[in-house]
Amino acid sequence: MTFDLTPEQDQLRDAVRALGRRYGHGYFVEKAKAGEHTTELWAEAGRLGYLGVNIPTEYGGGGGGITELAIVCEELAAAGCPLLLLVVSPAIAATVLARHGTEEQRKRHLPGLADGSAKIVFAITEPEAGSNFHRLGTVARRDGDDWLLNGRKCYISGVDEAGHVLVVARTEDSSTGRLKPALFLVPTDAAGLTRSKLDMEIVSPENQFLLYLDDVRVPADALVGESLDAGLPALFAGLNPERITVAAMGAGTGRYAIERASEYTATRKVWGGRSIGSHQGVAHPLAHAAVQVELARLMIQKAATRYDAGRDLEAGVAGNMAKYAAGEAAALAVDTAVQALGGAGMTTEYGVATLLGAVRAGRIAPVSREMILNFVAQHVLGQDKSY
Ligand SMILES: Cc1cc2nc3c(=O)[nH]c(=O)nc-3n(C[C@H](O)[C@H](O)[C@H](O)COP(=O)(O)OP(=O)(O)OC[C@H]3O[C@@H](n4cnc5c(N)ncnc54)[C@H](O)[C@@H]3O)c2cc1C
Repeated sequence: MTFDLTPEQDQLRDAVRALGRRYGHGYFVEKAKAGEHTTELWAEAGRLGYLGVNIPTEYGGGGGGITELAIVCEELAAAGCPLLLLVVSPAIAATVLARHGTEEQRKRHLPGLADGSAKIVFAITEPEAGSNFHRLGTVARRDGDDWLLNGRKCYISGVDEAGHVLVVARTEDSSTGRLKPALFLVPTDAAGLTRSKLDMEIVSPENQFLLYLDDVRVPADALVGESLDAGLPALFAGLNPERITVAAMGAGTGRYAIERASEYTATRKVWGGRSIGSHQGVAHPLAHAAVQVELARLMIQKAATRYDAGRDLEAGVAGNMAKYAAGEAAALAVDTAVQALGGAGMTTEYGVATLLGAVRAGRIAPVSREMILNFVAQHVLGQDKSY
């Protein structure tokens, strides 16, 4: 067992950290408040190869795994730039296409995802179905060679920045008549696809949308994979990378907040010559949060290592646990940092309260803490399913 990164992974970590620090949280917040995107950072990260670290080399990527992509997510977040679209585009969409797309789909989409010139976002959540994936109501029907998609999706991130949405729909299996999931690559400018932006209480340059699909017509080759049978495995292929990278973002955000707070409390003096950090009532909560973040990082490393070794089932357990742990640790770290900074904690200038909404959302999305506890109770502890 080793807790060390390889020299290449170490170099990647240092390089991404340097890039993130050049932009920093001020840039992230400025873009968010101006209603703009982190276009420059995304483009530079793409040019430097960081967005495609997990994409096979034959499609322009770095040929690494989710371990490498998690490093990218964590280090950008640790520099104050938690980019949610890293989870959606390179982690989910690129993995789904690399593993289950047709050769034509891989050739067409992966090079753009790898260099950052293209983004594909992911739409599974629906207003009626919520956490219950079995209730998905978006349906794809055959019409000649084409598919017609109808349904509604909600909270879909980054639709305004993407060329395609990977839509999870249900299709009728002609042999059994039963509905089963299938994934479709739908251009964001397709006729019949409309969107409305949701007002979210998150300081983020990335937006969430309601999506309406009204007779959206896509050609046969928009279906991900060679046949309808690819649907379920393709959908599951995206889940572990999603959980691991979102956990890494949470851990990075936690590190960022603790670092900001520690710098402040080590130098702020309001009782004579002693720093406020010398008071254990200030330092211990920060130390406790640091322990939680570090524990989450260990679980992320374990989950990513299992995933990259092809041990998907074990990666599923570890990835869910990592996501849970990192979500809780990030929320604790940011809240604790705000408290330690006192009034400064609530200012935009000190750059921690700006993360409160994001870390709160991290306990809900992309899978809520309750659904992870359900998963662990059922699959690890052998309890009956209660719902
Ligand atoms: C910032 C943000 C970005 C997002 N981006 C995307 C995206 O890009 N693409 C996408 O498809 N979706 C996205 N989502 C949606 C996200 O995945 C969902 O919000 C999440 O899965 C929860 O679904 P829901 O909101 O419908 O909650 P609900 O399912 O309505 O659940 C509400 C509450 O009840 C709890 N609950 C529900 N069922 C159970 C149960 N059986 N046992 C215990 N507790 C339960 C939940 O844990 C939750 O706390 C995003 C959400 C946010 C906040």
